Amino acid sequence: MNSDGSSALPDDLGELLDATIMMVDDEPITMEMVRAFLEEDGYRNFILIEDSGKAMAAIEESRPDVLLLDLMMPDVSGFDILDAIRLQPKLKHLPIIILTSSAEAEDKLRCLDLGATDFLAKPVDSSELRLRVRNTLAAKAYLDQLAFYDRQTNLPNRHMFMEHLEWALKWAKRDDHRLALLSIELDQFETISNAVGLLAGDEVLRKVAQLIKNVIRSMDALAHFDVKEDSDVHLFSLEGGVFSLLLHQIPSEGIAALVARRLLDSFREPLVIDNTEIYLTASIGIATYPIEETDNFGLLRLASSARDYIKNMGGDSFQFSSRQIDQQSRERLDLEAGLRKALERNELFLFYQPRVNVLTGAIESVEALLRWESADRRLIPPSEFIPVAEETGLIIPIGEWVLNAACLQLAEWRREGRIAIGLSVNLSAIQFQNRELPILIRRIVENYGLDPQLVSLELKEDILMHHVEEKIGMMQRLKDIGLKLALDDFGTGFSSLNYLKRLPLDELKIDRSFLLDMSKDANNRALASSVIYLGKNFGLRTVAEGVETEEQLQFLRDEGCDLYQGALFSMPLSKFEISELLPSSH
Ligand code: C2E
Ligand code: MG
Ligand code: MG
Repeated sequence: MNSDGSSALPDDLGELLDATIMMVDDEPITMEMVRAFLEEDGYRNFILIEDSGKAMAAIEESRPDVLLLDLMMPDVSGFDILDAIRLQPKLKHLPIIILTSSAEAEDKLRCLDLGATDFLAKPVDSSELRLRVRNTLAAKAYLDQLAFYDRQTNLPNRHMFMEHLEWALKWAKRDDHRLALLSIELDQFETISNAVGLLAGDEVLRKVAQLIKNVIRSMDALAHFDVKEDSDVHLFSLEGGVFSLLLHQIPSEGIAALVARRLLDSFREPLVIDNTEIYLTASIGIATYPIEETDNFGLLRLASSARDYIKNMGGDSFQFSSRQIDQQSRERLDLEAGLRKALERNELFLFYQPRVNVLTGAIESVEALLRWESADRRLIPPSEFIPVAEETGLIIPIGEWVLNAACLQLAEWRREGRIAIGLSVNLSAIQFQNRELPILIRRIVENYGLDPQLVSLELKEDILMHHVEEKIGMMQRLKDIGLKLALDDFGTGFSSLNYLKRLPLDELKIDRSFLLDMSKDANNRALASSVIYLGKNFGLRTVAEGVETEEQLQFLRDEGCDLYQGALFSMPLSKFEISELLPSSH
């Protein structure tokens, strides 16, 4: 009840009248009388149970909103039923009004002890009955609202969802129905609530919830399920901008796909919040019963894995669950668990790739590149674990470890009397959001007594996705310490020349994709030379990545590129191997 949940306590009786009222009494006449009294108030859903032995099964099946329970009954007494109810965690919140005659007054204490909510004297007085039932239902509605509804959207929450799904699966099994669970996540929810603020974020969720309801109600394919009102749509709000939509009794799995497609289409219309247009896409995972033979937790997990899968593929689409995808997401969880331990188990280490002067062929500096050898001795590439580290926030301690280890190595080379070379370290956009970053880096550099001019930080264009001004300020603070800044993988992101002009950069790194197929691809050649030209015009040094052939190097020489890295000179090396390559200064 109270599913639109505009106020916590239902202010009129109207909403309560839908409540299911169950009575268990061995005297049918009492029950009929109670029913007649309550019907006068407008209540309409009654379940009358004369045989107390059947009471528990009926309670579990129909989950009443209130139970009127007689104490003295043959075979199974009211006490027995109270006992059984309290053993069922799911029935913990079921309000129970005990019907007692005065002779049983001393039993009241025992009933309270067993969890009864209220008492009603027999013979039943009509106005007392109506008051007690109304107050009990109102209190239950209020508690339900707190416990079972999400505050942001006023939709039923995860708790309610799990119960509903368990119940729905049970009936689907019994009556041989199909059902589908759609797990819907807004692709940009986090970004949006960061950008427009939390309150507007809530507004986004509320509007999306309404949008979903409208779509379901307007779909001809679902017409025969009688979804006329919002409350007929089984939509739940889980945490973090995720919705669960349950479709009961569907004729085929295809309907679920149809619904998903319609939802994705409807999201394409911009939402207007505070006069701002917001464009949304979503990732939808679908798990259906009986194709997936599982319980409520299993079904939710399958739908969520499918959703995560499609989200990782770029979102704005839907995906049915399959055991294969489930397996993939399990591997991802394993990876995450392993990565959490990688630092303390000393499984991370750095490789170094020489950065070579195009004209002289001398090593000017090295780029530190992270490596992870996991517990099972597998060498996991950064392309696989850095995104996981970013999503989980582990990139913060890991990034700090990288900075420390690389600077320590640089200090060691100096102590060994190698010529002073530069060091490049990659930074993730997540690290770059941390305002304390300049302080942290300065401390590390000072700690090892390094010349900050020797340390270059490699950033990617994605740091400019949001809050550009803030990011430029941050770059300036790093420059003020004396550090150098490089833009990595330039040309692959959404780089805007407007911004490029304003960034306090020292170096532009040309992505290796521009150097591929040089001889055949005139387009790539043109792009590569214009990046070099651009760099020169902005007074930046240009660095080519992934140089593998003499031909590429010759091209770079002709175009006036400053530095190169790549297999042609050397792939990344261990600290022992690279040390051999670094000449001594004496
Ligand atoms: P990146 O910074 O652009 O590094 C260049 C990548 O190209 C490195 O891959 C390097 O091993 C590879 N490479 C170098 N020369 C050649 C070549 O001639 N041919 C080919 N095919 N590849 C070459 P790696 O080490 O796998 O790193 C991949 C990416 O992971 C890096 O791209 C960087 O974005 C990221 N990464 C690595 N270490 C760190 C780190 O400590 N922190 C962060 N945040 N990201 C890191
Ligand atoms: Mg790099
Ligand atoms: Mg790069």
